[in-house]
Amino acid sequence: MALRVHQFPCLSDNYGFLIQDEASGLAATIDTPDAAAILAELEKTGWTLALILNTHWHPDHAGGNAEIQAATGAQIVGPAEVRKIAPLDREVVDGDVVALGETQFSVLEVGGHTLGHIAYYDAGNAVAFVGDTLFALGCGRMFEGQPAQMWSSLQKLAALPDATTVYCAHEYTASNARFALSVDNDPTVAARAQAVFEARSRGEATVPTTIGLERQTNPFLRAPLLAPGLGLSGVPDFEAFAAVRAAKDSFKG
Ligand code: ZN
Ligand code: FE
Repeated sequence: MALRVHQFPCLSDNYGFLIQDEASGLAATIDTPDAAAILAELEKTGWTLALILNTHWHPDHAGGNAEIQAATGAQIVGPAEVRKIAPLDREVVDGDVVALGETQFSVLEVGGHTLGHIAYYDAGNAVAFVGDTLFALGCGRMFEGQPAQMWSSLQKLAALPDATTVYCAHEYTASNARFALSVDNDPTVAARAQAVFEARSRGEATVPTTIGLERQTNPFLRAPLLAPGLGLSGVPDFEAFAAVRAAKDSFKG
């Protein structure tokens, strides 16, 4: 029941993910940032694309659906909001299970970046595809949601086992690390930021990450601890989160 993950950069800072259920040989793409790049990588792997799994409706996630479906016949699975830009073959909601051969993904609703954003969690292989909700040392901007919703979505992901491998959709980690250093003087955060800067200077990806590492170092998950440094105390956790998110939105670094 192993799952192979083929990760590659596309567009300016997105990652494409082709995944294959080893038992059946069936493959899926997580989102469709760049149809031409995904089809070229698919050809390299030789895999048979059965599914397109969308996390949210943004064009750098669902914009390649039509072209990839036309080329492969793959079925498109996603949250209802994807219909804003492309048709769906199967609409999924929180708690639904999506099978790729023997691999089973649970759908987690993690709205906030967009209202209907979902993640795909494979508990058997301890893998989660989280789109633009959780990033390495970061989280998505709240384009549509409010802080309470985004905070509860992040808490849902943070509650997964520490060893869960987390595939985020963008390479934003160096910029996230600069922000983390500006709000958090924890030595573990500083060590991770240094490792991120070095990895990026060698041209290496900093995705995937893990839930354990994010719980330990991500300034958004650590927001309740950081709030006093931002002049807040005794506020609900989601308000602490909102303050850290607002600081990042205006961070120039
Ligand atoms: Zn997005
Ligand atoms: Fe995106």
